[in-house]
Amino acid sequence: MSARHTGTGQAPAACQRRYDVLIVGAGPAGMAAARAAAGSGCSVALIDDNPAPGGQIWRDGPGERLPAQARSLRHAIAAHGRIALYASTRVIAAPAPHTLLVESDESDESAMHLQFRNLILCTGARELLLPFPGWTLPGVSGAGGLQALVKAGTPVRGERIVIAGSGPLLLAAAATARRHGAHVARIAEQAPLSRLTRFAGALWRWPSKAAQAVALLDGHYRAGSHVVEALGDERLRAVRISQGGRTVALACDRLACGFGLVPNSGLAALLGCPLDPESDAIAVDALQRTGLPHVYAAGECTGIGGSELALLEGRIAGYAAAGADDRAGALAATRARWHAFAEQVRTTFALDPALKTLARADTPLCRCEDVPLSAIQAYPDAWMARMQSRCGMGACQGRVCATAGRVLFGWTRSTPRPPLSPARIGTLMLDENGGS
Ligand SMILES: Cc1cc2nc3c(=O)[nH]c(=O)nc-3n(C[C@H](O)[C@H](O)[C@H](O)COP(=O)(O)OP(=O)(O)OC[C@H]3O[C@@H](n4cnc5c(N)ncnc54)[C@H](O)[C@@H]3O)c2cc1C
Repeated sequence: MSARHTGTGQAPAACQRRYDVLIVGAGPAGMAAARAAAGSGCSVALIDDNPAPGGQIWRDGPGERLPAQARSLRHAIAAHGRIALYASTRVIAAPAPHTLLVESDESDESAMHLQFRNLILCTGARELLLPFPGWTLPGVSGAGGLQALVKAGTPVRGERIVIAGSGPLLLAAAATARRHGAHVARIAEQAPLSRLTRFAGALWRWPSKAAQAVALLDGHYRAGSHVVEALGDERLRAVRISQGGRTVALACDRLACGFGLVPNSGLAALLGCPLDPESDAIAVDALQRTGLPHVYAAGECTGIGGSELALLEGRIAGYAAAGADDRAGALAATRARWHAFAEQVRTTFALDPALKTLARADTPLCRCEDVPLSAIQAYPDAWMARMQSRCGMGACQGRVCATAGRVLFGWTRSTPRPPLSPARIGTLMLDENGGS
């Protein structure tokens, strides 16, 4: 492909590399896919915007020791002669068929075109954050956000923490915070006790999950409970929680509030892969093939289901992309069993519609650009809101506010445009679409 010329007559040199299989995302799904594809004889490139493979669940940091499975996968990838790992590398655009333009923080050749025969998207999921009064105060984060902060070394020793929202991640975040010396004052789960009891009763079908649930049990866990308001001036000092029909105030230093996960399907949408209209997950068949030829997807970008399902889907996608359909097909029964678990999680932690009414007219919806709810709630979609109010034009590029708008107002999804991430000028000049 040819690079555009600058006004000075200089055109950046476009480094190109070609692989049989290119994998975007080095979480459990991407790591498993890389091993399966390389083990089947393919040359593989594995890229991730984090400095080390592991995804959301397996993060390094001071005082954090990765589980044996994560260490062994990392070692296998580093030692495999057919796998090239591109860490701290982001996808910027898809300038031509079978080609992604990527940019790296580490490499001397900071931008390059990676060409592939088959592509596997393993872009994972992000937290669903919904606005409530006080949610932008310093001291308030997502539940997974707290996980990431603590694992990266943010000190929480001696702090009083309230964890709220929905889903199994609340318990995992509480366990990590406690391990690092925090006092977890409350875990407020919005799902009602009746649903949680049914879920617990079904866990015998997935013994590893039952064992995990028992290990994470916490006396401060309350069902049918949700955050109402975060209180404070310069910083969070208390949180009001609805619990069994009454509202209680709890003094705290941190509030970690996340309402579950949503698939990261922006790159898939840019490429033209069909998505599930309700969940925005990438639609795949039994061999993890998307609706586009040569493009596969695995892990939580295809639906929220936990790391076990992500690992399994990654293997299936890796085998299938390498042409080993028989090996991929042999994993179908196990995949079905973990899909059943994912369905249990989905129905158990379905959000109470009352959560859509927590924000007030003056509550910021777009916190990057400080746009209040009242300024945008009348718009039919994120695009109109963006054009009229700057909602979604800040650092998160709508990942937080447009996703919240989809839940709160039923906004239709808008397909992202390149550049997918903030990029250097020199990188944009390598995109034939000019980053338009
Ligand atoms: C903040 C957070 C914390 C979590 N913590 C836990 C936990 O402690 N325990 C637990 O059981 N589950 C946790 N989860 C759930 C976890 O996401 C899954 O169980 C599991 O990690 C899913 O694996 P995956 O491979 O599908 O995706 P992920 O692990 O999400 O991996 C996807 C990877 O792709 C990268 N990526 C995405 N888009 C691009 C792009 N365009 N260019 C380059 N790289 C890209 C991401 O940075 C990420 O490293 C957490 C989820 C979130 C959102």
